[in-house]
Amino acid sequence: MATKIRDEESRIVKECVERLREGQLAPWKVEDDLRSTYGMEIPVNFRIAALCRQHFIEAITGENFRYIFVPEKPYKERYLCAKDDFICELDIRDEKHTCSLCASELKPMNQYAPLVANYVGGQEDYFSYAGQVPVTGDVQKTFTNLLVYGTGLGPIGVTRGSFLINKLGGAEVKVAEFAAAVRCLGFLFQTEELRRKAQCVIEAFLPETKAKMQDKMLEFGGCISSVDFDHAETQRGFILYVDFVAEFTNFRGHGDISRAVGFIKPEVEKKLSSQGVHYELSVIAQGHDGDLKPSPRNKRGRKAMAQVRIPISDFKGLLKVDPEKFLSFVEVDGVGSQRLGCPFYSGMGGEILPAVYKATKVNPHSPLVSCFQNIYAEKDQGDVIYRVELPNIEVGVLSSREGLMSPVGREAMRIMGIQTAKEFAASVVAQVLAGEFNLALEISREKLYS
Ligand SMILES: [Zn+2]
Repeated sequence: MATKIRDEESRIVKECVERLREGQLAPWKVEDDLRSTYGMEIPVNFRIAALCRQHFIEAITGENFRYIFVPEKPYKERYLCAKDDFICELDIRDEKHTCSLCASELKPMNQYAPLVANYVGGQEDYFSYAGQVPVTGDVQKTFTNLLVYGTGLGPIGVTRGSFLINKLGGAEVKVAEFAAAVRCLGFLFQTEELRRKAQCVIEAFLPETKAKMQDKMLEFGGCISSVDFDHAETQRGFILYVDFVAEFTNFRGHGDISRAVGFIKPEVEKKLSSQGVHYELSVIAQGHDGDLKPSPRNKRGRKAMAQVRIPISDFKGLLKVDPEKFLSFVEVDGVGSQRLGCPFYSGMGGEILPAVYKATKVNPHSPLVSCFQNIYAEKDQGDVIYRVELPNIEVGVLSSREGLMSPVGREAMRIMGIQTAKEFAASVVAQVLAGEFNLALEISREKLYS
């Protein structure tokens, strides 16, 4: 009997995958379709829907799901806490049916729903499929989007946005070849003259410094790209900041540049002392090197940009929105964040970027700086160009001394089509473009939250 059901299931999955591939079935409608077309009951349909999406993704990418798997019961149930008059939603595998607020026993309501929208697998993290997005320009590839996040808006918004960007000919991306990592030395002098001399000594010593530091960064191929000086004065004296900026192709590099700066620090001190340049203080000055600081001068990470060109005629037809209203919205929103004193706009990127990091297990120390974004919309030769810039995206795609990556994360990257840090950045910025574009359209249509 069990085998027979499985045979029947596999026939249904095959049919659904076919319709998904032909575009006759939207990925986020599979659960409903299994009920209406095949009479499949809730909650049985949730597992089959996830399998349909997995097989569909395998068919379009040629990669297999192995570590991101669909559990027997991938859905949630609602429970009532009568005392708090509150409805909890728990993963069905969660057997601890007590209220987190009052610890009393929860009452099952026998109401079930998928774990997340467009769920495709995952036990501790719930993976959602968020469509495919073709990119051209610095990277030429079609990426398959996987996000880990709980809300519906993320995956569906990115899926819809990707679909539209697809129709409009794809996203054009620009991605920097290298990512920067910075560590700063800070010196304090009694006089301005001593500070000036110190800078001269350090500048003269730079070729030797760079060569010695590079030796410390061989494994990850780090390369000192610039050494930047900055001055400040306080009652304590004259400060000299020396930012050592290193470039890395496929690594974050913060550990390596930190070690290299730590190594060179006593040598710089020796040089200063031997030239009679007395300093009050010589320290690692992390306050100046951009670590997690929302500053336009932050040199950390890699720059990535994605844009889509929209012929005016498509605003009426495909997008169903007034182009002037759309342009006005982008301006209202951008000025809004400036009014808050924020040098960056941060919208959907703040949700999409962490969702991609969680899916791929490519972890920056914190997504904070990587989530900075700028959004532009402008008219160009009768079209509208909508553009997203990420000034500081951090990526380390290789499981290494720099950070261990779980098989789940590596599998997610294979399925997404990401092999290099540059491709990671291209994939992320295209997904942010898709999510923001869809959201901007919804808002311009005055459909959001209504
Ligand atoms: Zn309670």
